[in-house]
Amino acid sequence: MVSSPTTLQVILGAPVVREKKVTALPKDGLDDLIRSIIFNTQQLNEPFYVLDLGVVASLVDKWTRSLPTVRPFYAVKCNPEPALLGVMEALGASFDCASRAEIETVLSLGVSPSRIIYANPCKPESHIKYAASVGVNLTTFDSLEEIQKIQKHHPNCDLLIRIKAPDDGNARCPLGPKYGALPEEVEPLLQAVKASGLAVAGVSFHIGSGATNSNAYRSAIAAAKSVFDAVSRLDMPRMHVLNIGGGFTAGPEFDDAANAVNSAVYEYFKNEPGLTLIAEPGRFFAETAFTLATNIFGKRVRGEVREYWINDGVYGSMNCILYDHATVMATPFACSSNGGDPTCDGAKTYCSTVFGPTCDALDTVLRDYQLPELQVNDWLVFPNMGAYTAAAGSSFNGFNTAAIGTHLAYSNSVKFVGLN
Ligand SMILES: *Cc1c(COP(=O)(O)O)cnc(C)c1O
Repeated sequence: MVSSPTTLQVILGAPVVREKKVTALPKDGLDDLIRSIIFNTQQLNEPFYVLDLGVVASLVDKWTRSLPTVRPFYAVKCNPEPALLGVMEALGASFDCASRAEIETVLSLGVSPSRIIYANPCKPESHIKYAASVGVNLTTFDSLEEIQKIQKHHPNCDLLIRIKAPDDGNARCPLGPKYGALPEEVEPLLQAVKASGLAVAGVSFHIGSGATNSNAYRSAIAAAKSVFDAVSRLDMPRMHVLNIGGGFTAGPEFDDAANAVNSAVYEYFKNEPGLTLIAEPGRFFAETAFTLATNIFGKRVRGEVREYWINDGVYGSMNCILYDHATVMATPFACSSNGGDPTCDGAKTYCSTVFGPTCDALDTVLRDYQLPELQVNDWLVFPNMGAYTAAAGSSFNGFNTAAIGTHLAYSNSVKFVGLN
């Protein structure tokens, strides 16, 4: 192997990161970092994120080892935090953008337009024109109307036909109800592309975000193969791209998903020479890399029940509870009370409710949740808050999600292989 820079050098060299402070974390050092941020920089008790770039690097490494033939296009919508995008770019990832603004953001990192897929099957005309003007030349479609718009405004664009993946039934956020050509729509769409003079480069699908059934990849890859077969029946130029979308989670289930993808690609596509395999993972890279710290600014005792108010909620980062069907977890960080042990290990717990800051009863983050007795100005820390959280938060009631700061850390326990 040629000697290459270490992961840490690659990460610290990313332009977006270079200007910022990155704290090296010893093993299990995240709690200490959160504590020092709270004590040293948090006079206003504002909520904040910690992004562990070491986790991002280890996930890139995991991806490379498990899906070595699949090139990841990070789905920007999942979490567009600039430091995350910058590090993904430095580590060699490409990007899935769904709008003009997302394309602009990624291009501003210095990413070549050839490393961007405009993976929104239904695009406003002005955004298509913009993609044409900057040379983003790969997009998806699933309707006749989309073919017409692309022919008119971006005739040099390569197309991937988005098919509706057979239903997983278990995804947290199914996408099939909105996108994807039905099996009987595929041939008419291919014929329309042929007539338009555009080129279909391949097939894409998305089995649903937060998918739990790895068989869904297998059925979708089988369905994609039938589209490749239809193209040869219709005497159209061979396709060469298979886009397996997102849906991956960074837990042990990733190994099942990777095995399902690898074996199905082998089974159905071993006779397709020169196939380019790509994917659009969002949650996989973002979810576990971010930890959110929130301050308790209100409390009410009702008998045995404890009620707390924290300064982020379902109109902010915790919109994931509503839109992403997420379950969040909180650990206490008691800095005002319990001086000896801020984690309150072993303390008596109470059935607790945790409210967000806005004046809407819907803004409830946790209910019937066991927490030790906490006080105003203690903190609640939420792990795994990187996917579909701040990205979709609002500024309802004056609580502005976009203003939540992000501190960068690097847990130094990963070896790096890198993407090619
Ligand atoms: C949202 C989305 C993704 C990312 O999905 P994850 O489940 O977060 O990996 C990828 N591709 C498309 C087209 C999407 O809409």
